[in-house]
Amino acid sequence: MKTSQFRDTGKFVRRPARSGVLAPGNLAKLMRCLEPNADIALPIRIQGAGSASTDCNQSPHGTVVRTTEMNKILRIDSYNHTVTAEAGVRLGALVAALARQGLELVGNHDQMERTLGGALASPCMGPGIGEQAGYLSDQVINMKIVTADGKLMNVSEQKTHLLNAFRLSYGLLGVIYEATLRVRPISTFSASHRGLSIDRFSDIADHLSDRNVGLKFYVLPHRDRVYVDLRRFEADPGNAYAAPWKIKDWGESTVLPNVFRSLNRVMPIPSVRYKLIDSISAATHGLVNTKLVNNGNNVAAAGRRRRTARRNLLYSTWCFPASDFSVVIKAYAKFCQQILQKDGYRCDMPAIGFRVSRDTSALLSPSFDEPVFALQTTSTQRNGWDDFVIDLAQFAENWGGTPLFSQSRAFRAEQAAQSYSTRLEFFRKIRRKLDPDDRLLNPFLARSFQ
Ligand SMILES: Cc1cc2nc3c(=O)[nH]c(=O)nc-3n(C[C@H](O)[C@H](O)[C@H](O)COP(=O)(O)OP(=O)(O)OC[C@H]3O[C@@H](n4cnc5c(N)ncnc54)[C@H](O)[C@@H]3O)c2cc1C
Repeated sequence: MKTSQFRDTGKFVRRPARSGVLAPGNLAKLMRCLEPNADIALPIRIQGAGSASTDCNQSPHGTVVRTTEMNKILRIDSYNHTVTAEAGVRLGALVAALARQGLELVGNHDQMERTLGGALASPCMGPGIGEQAGYLSDQVINMKIVTADGKLMNVSEQKTHLLNAFRLSYGLLGVIYEATLRVRPISTFSASHRGLSIDRFSDIADHLSDRNVGLKFYVLPHRDRVYVDLRRFEADPGNAYAAPWKIKDWGESTVLPNVFRSLNRVMPIPSVRYKLIDSISAATHGLVNTKLVNNGNNVAAAGRRRRTARRNLLYSTWCFPASDFSVVIKAYAKFCQQILQKDGYRCDMPAIGFRVSRDTSALLSPSFDEPVFALQTTSTQRNGWDDFVIDLAQFAENWGGTPLFSQSRAFRAEQAAQSYSTRLEFFRKIRRKLDPDDRLLNPFLARSFQ
């Protein structure tokens, strides 16, 4: 087990409890971290890859327990289409191992550096096709847990309500150390692309939100452009080649952020800089999406594991009811323009959106009542970002947005209470039962879950 920061010098002095980061490499060590008499500072926060954009995975005065050393894929059952793995395995490693057996994860999930545990304990969503392709956690049939007081617990499909509470539980009910999930044979989809004005996109957003279509889009609010990526299963979709998807992923997640970061440094005149930035975005999306990728599958379209470029990206994601999205997207474009005028701040990367189906498999599902559109605002511009996300949270609140505890920056606890309503209250009761001493509760999460 790796620890950081601590050194004991006094012979007879009782040491304060140790804070810092622990990375247990096996179950016995993980259990020891959570034992009530363990010599570590509270609260304990579980961390996977640490890619969440809020403090849900932090514990500056307590202890962070990182799961990344527990990263074995234990079993791939190609007959029953299931996989069992430790929580610290990266999605990229899981996707690659499944592909070797002709299998894939259900749903299209980006961000391959995240861990399986993080992807089950917080929303892991993408433009999956079909009703059950929203969150990866929907596919879980069994979770093995170390409880807040260091005991073992098994949560299977037979305990439906408990499993529903553990999906998207943000590490508040215990540590997931192993999980079994349903997977499926690799299936090829066709991908079609269009560039539209925001008004035109808004006109057809309702039609596009059909559940048998995977919908992802990139919004350039200052250029009045939306690039739409529609995915469908076809009877005869043709071949899916991985290379074009790799180029697309490389363009979107490495080239664009790096070029924009450089432009932000070398080009002092904002109007010229932003014109250039938008032209490069439009050209990249126009070229890569419309000309390059026509057929794909969830393996090819998953992207690669990429630590550095993505980690430097700032993002905040909110979910809006699908039924209102045609209005919300226009309001969002106006909001971005007003903020630019008022504060001189704008995001340099396109916002990314996708439709997420209604999903009642998790108590804290953001689309429990109806399908939603997730809108992820992304930027490389640090200066002004903190103020921007406060305004964005206000905008989202005004338009009925649901915050994600792991991805929505600057949300108010009252807004979360309103969005999740009685389900949040029920979750809190379960949490108090499983963690009566608040060992897993940090101040950020206490605002909503105390
Ligand atoms: C550039 C970028 C793009 C992104 N795009 C998307 C996207 O398209 N779709 C999407 O859904 N997300 C996206 N994300 C968000 C992010 O990847 C997810 O929040 C991810 O699921 C978190 O996984 P992680 O391993 O990083 O977990 P962490 O961030 O470390 O933890 C997230 C939460 O899960 C809990 N947790 C972690 N592991 C465990 C465990 N073993 N047991 C119990 N609780 C645990 C933590 O306590 C915390 O509350 C993006 C992030 C970045 C940086």
